[in-house]
Amino acid sequence: MAEQARRFRLSRRALLGLAIVGGGAVWAGATAARLMRAPSGAKDAGRIADLDGVPLPQEPDFDNPYYDASLPWASEGGTINDVSALSRTPVYGVVKVAEEKHVADALAFARGNNLSVSLAAVRHSMGGQAFDDHAIVLDMMGLNSIEVDEAAMTVTVGPGATWHDIQNVLHPRFAVKAMQSTDIFSVGGSISVNAHGMDHQAGSIVGSVKALEVMLADGNKTTCSRDQNADLFRHVVGGYGLFGVVLKAVLEIVPNAVYQTSRAVIRSEDFPKLFETEMVGDPGLGLFYGHLSTARSNFLEDMIVYRYDKVADTAPPDMGPLGEPGMVGVKRLIMNLAKRGEVFQSFKWYMEKELEPEFESCTVPRTAAMAEGEACLVSRNNPMHDSVPYLFNDLPEETDILHEYFFPRSEYNAFIAGAREILRKSELPLLNASIRVVHAEDTALTYAKEDAFSLVLYVNQRTDEDGNAKMRALTRELVDLTLKHRGRFFLPYQLHYTRAQVMAAYPELPAFLAKKRQYDPRELFTSTFYRGLKAAAGMA
Ligand SMILES: Cc1cc2nc3c(=O)[nH]c(=O)nc-3n(C[C@H](O)[C@H](O)[C@H](O)COP(=O)(O)OP(=O)(O)OC[C@H]3O[C@@H](n4cnc5c(N)ncnc54)[C@H](O)[C@@H]3O)c2cc1C
Repeated sequence: MAEQARRFRLSRRALLGLAIVGGGAVWAGATAARLMRAPSGAKDAGRIADLDGVPLPQEPDFDNPYYDASLPWASEGGTINDVSALSRTPVYGVVKVAEEKHVADALAFARGNNLSVSLAAVRHSMGGQAFDDHAIVLDMMGLNSIEVDEAAMTVTVGPGATWHDIQNVLHPRFAVKAMQSTDIFSVGGSISVNAHGMDHQAGSIVGSVKALEVMLADGNKTTCSRDQNADLFRHVVGGYGLFGVVLKAVLEIVPNAVYQTSRAVIRSEDFPKLFETEMVGDPGLGLFYGHLSTARSNFLEDMIVYRYDKVADTAPPDMGPLGEPGMVGVKRLIMNLAKRGEVFQSFKWYMEKELEPEFESCTVPRTAAMAEGEACLVSRNNPMHDSVPYLFNDLPEETDILHEYFFPRSEYNAFIAGAREILRKSELPLLNASIRVVHAEDTALTYAKEDAFSLVLYVNQRTDEDGNAKMRALTRELVDLTLKHRGRFFLPYQLHYTRAQVMAAYPELPAFLAKKRQYDPRELFTSTFYRGLKAAAGMA
């Protein structure tokens, strides 16, 4: 009898144990599946509705909206958002531009009906740069022609062409000269923020723009470049869509060189010296980026320096087409797990440091480029053809926000030490921290007055008020640090800075806004960001 009761207890325990393990396995499997899932749609989680206390929502200036049937409206009324999911904004309507005439007609319609216009592309800027309350939004993605001129080494593109599409056309002989570190963005959106990426010699995109065709607020078309209408050029590039509509861009292209890849794990504090002695003067260094650890044990202390050194001027003509990123689900899982505690952050760093090299895809056969040994060879287009699908997820209650801070190169160690202290005490998970190189850039609202390094951060937050409050506090601390080190912050991101901070970082702002009114006296082109800047400069 006693034996029977003991066995019964044992089997009950075993069953309970099995149920717990089984339940745990089911929960872990379901959680992993959720964290690996691709977005089921665009996130739309509300609106951060002020810049430093200045309210951004505004009432419509019309009673009965009228929609000219000759324009291709994708929506009449409704709301729009950007990739942050935190900029939901009511609009007059969205015009899906498919030809240049639609732009001219939409501007005439707006002028005739006293409406404003915003220009939108992939909408990866994160603070209402591409739309405004009750404005007509021109969705520019349909103007996406791509024409290569091999003799001139240029590509002439519509503003809605993405780097991804352009690379598919240029490959395998040619490559983009300057762009972001990922290929998902439009040319129009990239020109309007003067984007920069992995080629520190080419610098930001302004250096690769030969000419722009622009439609001004009055409907007139003009061409501008460094030599022709140079003042307009300096304002359209990095002008956040406020000076005119880019209709076409002529961009320099370069040969699709073959690079040998390498990586070194260094102490972050050694980077400035390494850059000075082994990188800045090396013409063979085609691409590079620095990736800092976000694990607590070596937080922003260790760094992987990825190098792409040129071994041949051109890629073999029979190179296969450009591939899409692999292991997307696993990479998305690692990224999303990293938001959930130190163990996973350490795991992410281990993967980046130890395992990633094992999965590197070497797309150029060694014999073809006459390189020796076990080198991994890729063509320029390969690392630049990354559409980062793993950064985007199906977790509606959270969002990932980019920041970028530029500072003089001599300030590197002091700046990183300060950022380490601020980010360590923030409760928001830091997902990525990378280092970029930019040059002094001659655009009206430049983010770099002198050669600079920048720290790019990708930070996770909840999409609720508490998440926004934490992101705002973090941003302001990082901006203060940047100002202390004579730096500037990148403007396509959230409007969490104070009015005093944006004025201190960009003393040219009043002149920029005055120029805007010179080119566009009626302020036809607008955005929430524009109204925020005006309020900051006391020009609302
Ligand atoms: C995950 C991620 C990674 C990023 N990485 C980098 C990076 O490596 N380097 C970097 O520099 N930036 C980076 N950014 C920022 C990015 O470059 C900008 O947000 C860029 O503007 C995005 O382009 P878009 O096509 O989404 O433009 P949108 O966000 O749609 O528009 C941006 C601006 O361009 C204007 N615009 C759009 N089309 C036109 C047109 N035809 N004529 C005139 N104005 C126009 C809009 O009005 C708006 O002001 C990154 C952003 C994200 C979210």
